[in-house]
Amino acid sequence: MTAWLFRDDAYRTTLEARVTTADARGLVLDCTIFYPHGGGQPGDTGMLVREDGTRVPIIDTLKGETRGEIVHVLPGGFAGPFAGETVELELDWARRYAHMRMHTACHLLSAVLPYPVTGGSIRRDSARLDFDMPAAAADREALTAKVNALVDAGHAVSSEWIDEAELDRREDLVRTLAVAPPRGSGRVRLVRVEGVDLQACGGTHVANTREIGRVVVAKIENKGRQNRRVTIAFAPGSDPVVQSNWNG
Ligand SMILES: [Zn+2]
Repeated sequence: MTAWLFRDDAYRTTLEARVTTADARGLVLDCTIFYPHGGGQPGDTGMLVREDGTRVPIIDTLKGETRGEIVHVLPGGFAGPFAGETVELELDWARRYAHMRMHTACHLLSAVLPYPVTGGSIRRDSARLDFDMPAAAADREALTAKVNALVDAGHAVSSEWIDEAELDRREDLVRTLAVAPPRGSGRVRLVRVEGVDLQACGGTHVANTREIGRVVVAKIENKGRQNRRVTIAFAPGSDPVVQSNWNG
C-alpha cells in the first residue's frame, strides 16, 4: 500500500520514501508524489536519487494489481534500488504541471459543454474529451471564448472527500464513466472549481484556473452521430511550458 501524497498536495516536487518492493515491474514505495497513469492522465516521470547519490530515471508510473499500490517504472538494465533502501524522489515538474493545467482546462470544457463525457485523454500540450452531443451544440470560437473567460476569472480549485454511498446517490457528480476516479476504498475525491464545476476526479489539478493560461479549442471532430471529440491546446504565446530535463 502506497501513500498517495499527490492527492493532498499536487505541488510537491520532492519526497523521501522507502522502497517496499523491487521486482520486474519496477519499484513500489511506502509513499509517493508520482501520479500513476489513469483517468486519462499520463503517469509521472522524473528521477530517483539513491543514498549514494546515484540518479535513476523513472520513465512511467502505473497502478499495481494490488489496490493502492503504485509502481515506479525503471528503464531496462537497472539493478537496484532494492527493498528497504531510502530514496529521494524528484518529480519532472514541468511535465506534470503541464498535465495539471490541461487537466483543469478539461474540467472547464466539461462545464461549458454540459453533455455526458464518454472518454478523454490528457497530454503535455493538448487534451481531448469525447462528448455525447449533437453536432450543432459546439462552435469552436464560442467555446474557446467561454473556456478562456473561466480561466481569466481566476476560480479557486479545491478537493473534498465523500463516501462512495453518497456518490451513488449523486449521479450528477460523475460526468464520465470512462475517466471515473478509482473506487473501492470507501471514499471518493471530489474536485471543485469554485462556482463552475464539481465532479468526482482522481487526477491532479492547478489551484486556480488562472494558472491554466489561455487555451484554444483546436478541433471538434465527428466520431459518430452523437459523439463529438473536442481537442483543446495551449494558445500560442500562452505561458510556454518549461522544457523538461527528462522526457515527455
Ligand atoms: Zn480532474
